[in-house]
Amino acid sequence: MQLVPGLHQIGLGYVNAFLWDSPDGLVLIDAGVDEQAAGILAYLTGLGRQPSAVRWILITHSHPDHIGGAAKLKEVCGAQVLAHRDEVAAIESSLGRAKVIDRELVDGEGTPGGLKAIHTPGHTRGHTCYYHPRRSILFVGDALTNREGLAGPSEKYTADMPEAQRSIRKLSQLSFEIACFGHGEPLTAGACTLVDRLVERMESNR
Ligand SMILES: [Zn+2]
Ligand SMILES: [Zn+2]
Repeated sequence: MQLVPGLHQIGLGYVNAFLWDSPDGLVLIDAGVDEQAAGILAYLTGLGRQPSAVRWILITHSHPDHIGGAAKLKEVCGAQVLAHRDEVAAIESSLGRAKVIDRELVDGEGTPGGLKAIHTPGHTRGHTCYYHPRRSILFVGDALTNREGLAGPSEKYTADMPEAQRSIRKLSQLSFEIACFGHGEPLTAGACTLVDRLVERMESNR
């Protein structure tokens, strides 16, 4: 589903992947679970695009619902896979194979598609959001969820909750209208105001 021009949500059951149609080429953000690679390829076909149009796959983190389809999609699309350097070992162990990541990112680094890597550790060590300042879009991964209203990540699956909350504060320093979550509905307006309110609630609960 196209959310705003050039930005597509690919709903894969309980998890989302996103497609960013940039002047550099198509960028896929996250890759669903293993068998959902087919669903992502079918979405591309529906757009009238070839798999080879996907030039990069940006990974938010190593959980199987975000990385599962990456190896297959890398092969079919011939895409490069990028992730934060602190997440590479976990991604390779999650996939059970080495040499999946073509480029390791650090905090603040620019990526293809006009995006910027924002290291947001806590949910996992190398969790990374991707930010497009000019288009005011934040790909949140699991740093936040929006299933029953905006909230932090699920505690059950989060390695370090205090660190995850520091990362939410870091995100609240950015300016963005649109937020795309791994889990839950995207926000297409006023997203950073809602994140600010969440941070205020977090502070008052401390
Ligand atoms: Zn996760
Ligand atoms: Zn997830």
